[in-house]
Amino acid sequence: MPVDAAEALLCWYVVDKRRLPWRAEAGESADPYRVWLSEVMLQQTTVAAVKPYFENFTTRWPTVGALAAAPDGEVMAAWAGLGYYARARNLLACARTVAAEHAGVFPDGEEGLRKLPGIGPYTAAAIAAIAFGRRAVVVDGNVERVISRLHALQTPLPQARPEIRDLADAMTPDEGAGDFAQAMMDLGATICTPRNPACGLCPVREWCKAFAEGEPGRYPVKAPKAARPHRHGTAYWLEQDGAVLLVRRPPRGLLGGMLAFPEAPPVGAAWEEAGSVEHVFTHFSLTMNLRCARADARPDGIWHPVATVAEAGLPTLFAKLAARGLAWREKERDRDGVRKNALLV
Ligand code: SF4
Repeated sequence: MPVDAAEALLCWYVVDKRRLPWRAEAGESADPYRVWLSEVMLQQTTVAAVKPYFENFTTRWPTVGALAAAPDGEVMAAWAGLGYYARARNLLACARTVAAEHAGVFPDGEEGLRKLPGIGPYTAAAIAAIAFGRRAVVVDGNVERVISRLHALQTPLPQARPEIRDLADAMTPDEGAGDFAQAMMDLGATICTPRNPACGLCPVREWCKAFAEGEPGRYPVKAPKAARPHRHGTAYWLEQDGAVLLVRRPPRGLLGGMLAFPEAPPVGAAWEEAGSVEHVFTHFSLTMNLRCARADARPDGIWHPVATVAEAGLPTLFAKLAARGLAWREKERDRDGVRKNALLV
């Protein structure tokens, strides 16, 4: 019989852990490159969304050296759709630092890892524990929820974070901290879920205060959220001879370094309204209108074939706008058809 919650959790993990493409199988040692890549991709993003991106990245760039040598544009395009684009820029900066300054080998402790671009305390702890077997305290959103429930913490998030970290530290075993961290994450993702936790299947039920109270969904207690502001913007679809004008956004700031449509009219033209799309970013929501026109000549910029604009590597907001642009073309073609038919009658 397990003597404490950590032991019970590890026993459960051996049998019921999730099979994920970045995890080592029993007997294999974890590849730090794959652990790092998956941890960066999983920040604010679901496992289901990350899987195809992870497979694509590791097929195209199987080592940190290969990724470090990849052109910026190709990596940004491969990241398109995954969101939080600062991660992709930091990913490249980190790969290049590891390749140039560490001979392609990741540092094996939290302190060394934290000096690398884009690696904060959480990611450093996760890589140190999972890839290098170090004792490190790994606290992500899943772990926060499990710990809050195990202890029925009354302090709301985010103020409860230091307390949660201390409690996670006290629970982390000296040996097998990587398995323990992944077990906590798996428990949070599959059983101790945000809504309707499946307590009947839970390996740590007997140690859980929220379960004993009978209302586990109450935890973690959250401070009320400030309302998200709403903004408006306009993008421009300029087309000439089967190609549409794209621009590369400045490297810093929102969607930095990604391809996009211009957000100011690139030429004087008879711009037509082509509808709008809604998009939600972390700190604001956005209504973006699209205006479309045809040009007689090509101003400077990146001209991409309209037929393959869906594969241009646009971030999600601009991919939605591209769909509007394509719909505008269809309507325009129908209108031209009607006009020609009217002339023939
Ligand atoms: Fe979560 Fe329920 Fe398990 Fe407690 S008993 S850790 S609330 S799943």
